Amino acid sequence: MEAGPTDNTVTLVIPLFNEEEVLPSLIDEIQSFRARRPEITDVILIDDGSTDATARQARDLTDGLPGFMLVRFSRNFGHQLAVTAGLHMVRTDAAVILDADLQDPLEVVGRMIDKWREGYDVVYGVRRVRGGVTLLERLTARLYYRFFKRFTDVDAPLDAGDFRLVSRSVMDAYAKLNEQQPYVRGLVSWLGFNQVGIEYDRQSRAAGRSKYPWRRRMQLALDGIASFSGKPLRYAVRIGIAVSALSAVGLIWVVLVKYAFGTAITGWSSLIFVAFFFGGLQLFFLGVVGSYVARVYDEVKGRPRYIIRDTWRSGRRGDHRSAETGSGSEKLRG
Ligand code: UDP
Ligand code: MG
Repeated sequence: MEAGPTDNTVTLVIPLFNEEEVLPSLIDEIQSFRARRPEITDVILIDDGSTDATARQARDLTDGLPGFMLVRFSRNFGHQLAVTAGLHMVRTDAAVILDADLQDPLEVVGRMIDKWREGYDVVYGVRRVRGGVTLLERLTARLYYRFFKRFTDVDAPLDAGDFRLVSRSVMDAYAKLNEQQPYVRGLVSWLGFNQVGIEYDRQSRAAGRSKYPWRRRMQLALDGIASFSGKPLRYAVRIGIAVSALSAVGLIWVVLVKYAFGTAITGWSSLIFVAFFFGGLQLFFLGVVGSYVARVYDEVKGRPRYIIRDTWRSGRRGDHRSAETGSGSEKLRG
């Protein structure tokens, strides 16, 4: 275990990708919340390769305030890796992961800390109401969480995102996982420990636009399934066998018709349809197989998962936290 303060301190871990619009109110809210909850000694902001003024603003706004740290990635590595990097750097007894856009209310962070004090290792937020999302987004998200639960062997809670508190033991265990495309909420569930959910109403974004377009959301969903289940591959085999069996029966039938009744088969259009159908099916499952191969390829290359460009501290805290200054990749962690 890392040597750290033992007075039940908490870090906020906040990934940022082009969040200049929301940063001023974020820092404001955090500071007024910290006045009430002094156990939040640290705030780690991870700038995930923003192309706007996010990094400069983060420094300007937090300069001189206690306990802020800004970690800049060398480019955009994605939300899940930004969260992962943040968790790797936490030095306190617990951390809370939250969105920069104030969708996850700080008041709920306080409730999470209270639950943690009761002895839980993971306290995740369950979205009762989701503000600022369309009906389609809400429906697909609900459907996805249920599908994920059925399809994988992970006991992941329904309707919970990455907004959660994790204890020191969970962070230490998480640091041992080395997946190239981590699916944070799935991995944290997989780790076990004492987990509990608390319900909350998710707000809509305080400012700016969502950094998760449909394409990325789909990718996250597919990553989630693929990293926790080989079932798509097994289903491909089963469907392949079923289809072959069916076509064998069809072939016998065709031969029978020809020799028993002497009628040749007419209807090319149906034949073409069948050819296209199975062609499509084959391509689909080739794609399924391919996506697993691609994941294996990513793992085999063993590249560092993120590269840190630099790390900056807001000042006043020249203590144990200076251990990880400077740039470098996580590979340096041994
Ligand atoms: N984010 C990030 N890297 C990305 C995309 C998003 O660090 O490539 C951050 C973003 O700044 C925010 C959080 O991840 O703090 C969640 O993103 P967002 O709020 O846009 O997603 P949504 O809540 O709309 O699903
Ligand atoms: Mg958000």
